[in-house]
Parts: sequence; C-alpha cells; structure tokens
Amino acid sequence: MKFYSTNSKKFPVSLKQAVMMATAKDNGLFMPTKILPLPKKFFATIEKESFQEIGLEVANSLFKGSISRKDLKQIIEKSINFKCPLKKISNEKGAEIYTLELFHGPTLAFKDFGARFMAQLMSKFLKNSKQKLHILAATSGDTGSAVGKAFYNMPNIKVSLLYPGKMVSRIQEQQLTTIGKNIQAFEVKGNFDDCQKLVKTAFADQDLRKKLKTKNISLSSANSINIARLLPQSFYYFYAYAQLKKLHPDIKNSKIIISVPSGNLGNLTAGIIAKKMGLPITQFIAATNQNNSFTEFLKTGNYKPKNTIPTISNAMDVGNPNNFVRIQSLYGNKINEIKKDISSSSFTDIETKRAIKEIYEKNNYIMDPHGAVAYLGLKDYIKNNSSQKMIGIFLETAHPAKFADIVEAILKRKVELPTKLKNCLKKKKTAKKISTNYEVFERLLP
Ligand SMILES: *Cc1c(COP(=O)(O)O)cnc(C)c1O
Repeated sequence: MKFYSTNSKKFPVSLKQAVMMATAKDNGLFMPTKILPLPKKFFATIEKESFQEIGLEVANSLFKGSISRKDLKQIIEKSINFKCPLKKISNEKGAEIYTLELFHGPTLAFKDFGARFMAQLMSKFLKNSKQKLHILAATSGDTGSAVGKAFYNMPNIKVSLLYPGKMVSRIQEQQLTTIGKNIQAFEVKGNFDDCQKLVKTAFADQDLRKKLKTKNISLSSANSINIARLLPQSFYYFYAYAQLKKLHPDIKNSKIIISVPSGNLGNLTAGIIAKKMGLPITQFIAATNQNNSFTEFLKTGNYKPKNTIPTISNAMDVGNPNNFVRIQSLYGNKINEIKKDISSSSFTDIETKRAIKEIYEKNNYIMDPHGAVAYLGLKDYIKNNSSQKMIGIFLETAHPAKFADIVEAILKRKVELPTKLKNCLKKKKTAKKISTNYEVFERLLP
C-alpha cells in the first residue's frame, strides 16, 4: 500500500515514509491509495472473531504489501490489548441505544488506540537499524499521556512532552509527569500555542538536526494527523458491529447509526474508512460542541475555520479540524456525497450537562462530557428520523473520572477513580520547568 497526500495524488510514499514524516512535503495529510471492501465471508462470521483478530484483518487490508501479516499481528497484540465493550443504555421510541466504551486503555481515553499502534509500528521500523528517535509532542492534555505511555520503555526512542503549566487539569498533569524512564515532561511557562511553537522551531532547526544526526538520532513527531494513529481507530467500529451481531442475529435488517464526539475529526474519518471497507453503517453523526465549523459546513456548504471557544468537552475545542481535508478527499470534495453518510449537530455546555444528569438518573450510567455530546447528537437524529427502526451507538471517548470536577458537580456524587488513575495520582511529579525561550529548550535536548 502506498500513501498519497491530500494535496496531490502524484507522489505517493511508502508506509514507513508516511509514518516517519507525519505530513507530506506539500503539507497535505497522507491517505491510503486504495480502500478495498473486506470479503463477504469476513462479515458473515465476524461475531466469532476476537477484537485483535478483527483488527488484524482490517489492518492487513489497509497496509497490504507494506508490512507482513506476522509483524502486524505482533503490533496489534502489543497495542490493542485492552477491552472495548458495547453496552446497552436504553430503549427509546424507535431505537435501541448503546455506547461503545473506548476508554479502557492505559490513559483512559480513546487516543490510546492510535498512540499505542503508532508507537509499536515506529519501533518495528527502527528494529535492526542503528537509527534512534527523539519524539517531540506538544500537548494540551490527553494526547501527551497517551503518547508517553505508548512509547514507555521502548529501546532507542526518547520522548519529550511539552505542556502548558497551570493550563491542564491536575489529573492530566499527574498522568503526563509520572511516566518516567525514556519519557520526559517539560512544563512550559505559557499556553498550548507556545508549546507548539517550541516544537515547530525545533523541527525547523537545521543545526539541531545536524547535531542529532552525528548521534544517529532523528527527530519525529507523534502528531495526531499521523496516518499510523488514524487507521487503527477503524478497528473498533468493526468490533462494535461484531458485538451487535451477537446480540441481534438479524442485524442485516437494522439501520445502524453511530454518533462520534468530534474535534479534529480523526475518529469520524476512521469510521468513514470502515464504511468504505464494507461495514454496514447507515449513518454517522459528527456531534460537536460550540466549536462547530464542521456542523456549519454541512448546513451552509461553506467551510469557515473559527477561533476556539473553551467548553467542558475540551478535547473537542477545535476551530479548524485538521482531518477535514481527509473527509473532503474521501468524498472527492462533493458535499452532497458527504451529507449522504454524515449528519452533524452541535450542543452547548448547558445541554451537555443536562444530558449527563438525565442519563444518570434514568439509566444509571455516567457519561463524560465528550460522550454526552455524542449521546445528544444521536438522540437528535433519532427524533428527526423516527419512522425507521434504528440501532444507535454513541462513542464514549474518555472515562468520566478524567473529568471528575465537572461530572461530580453535575451529579452531586463522587465518581470512582479507576485503579490506574489512583496509582498515578500517588506518584511524584517530575517535570523540567522551562520558559518559552527556544535556546534554553534546545540545550536540554540530547
Ligand atoms: C481527542 C478527543 C476527542 C476528539 O476526537 P477527534 O478525533 O479529534 O475528532 C473526543 N473525545 C476525547 C475524550 C478526546 O480526547
């Protein structure tokens, strides 16, 4: 499989190049040149397969010719090794509602899927070479710990995580600064953009690159636009279907709707790729908070990036979603084609809080703010299309304990912290405090 840039299909690159470069030379994002439907017999018995077996079939199709099935199997066994349950929430008029819990990985957010797969793939590429990697990642919260944990203890790889001091939650800071070994945290006296700027300056610094080259080290990024983070996110859509099929042997006759809480639209893009591979999903919903450039685009046909507005579902506070170009590319820039597969609606913090309370009181289920936005998107769709019998799934992308301050204030009760989180809260924070001065930061790099 080769990978083309969303800006031009003319110069496709290998998987290794796409993964190591993260973005194309023309600043486009990489996409697989072919997305082929999986064979009918795969879907006929999908409910009998494990999550890892399903992931392997999907990966083998998306990466065909780039990496052996045996290597992919090892990568998946080491990265996609936590559960991903589909849970029934309620029966509503016209629909059954389920949630797919994507937060059972080491950092309790769905970004673990992509970060862990990418880390294992990069480590595979380094094997048997003298090459070493230094990964720089700026983070506004969740990405940093997912990336740090994913590369933890990997030979020949070091990671520097830069986060804005005082601007991430206490839990997020503990998660970022207690990983240890080859993972180093930098607490930057500034905001997320300052962190991003330090990373970008380092990437553009030819003297630094030269210095590192003498030690066989190359700089790399763990950016969320990396194709190796995007593609493994399609696995769990297939697994959701497999779990549904076990419960509904006659699933073929149902309309399946999946609502995705969306920020940079990576999760949604992975779902669309699953559909193009033959997964029978009737409709996707891009559920957004007040950062709704994509919702507005589907409504008006005009795409206008906006400044970000802070909300309680902060991992979705994105005014200019970077995977928008991938969605455009998948549909040949035809908005009417996009609209056939994707609907979108956006919600306020007040609505989100109300939904968290309502589902807890009615169904005894605690949603986090991101999952709650997805739930609202699903409910809205069901209300407007009630003539059909539907099965609706909303994706739960983070454990509610990660947003304990918000959720506890709404529900007026404690949210139990999972053991993984409790342990990390006990550890001692280790971070190098730095200013936004690049020269000082540069001297701290190897
Ligand atoms: C990153 C994130 C999202 C948004 O996902 P995109 O792929 O950027 O659309 C949603 N929920 C949580 C908890 C996240 O961390």
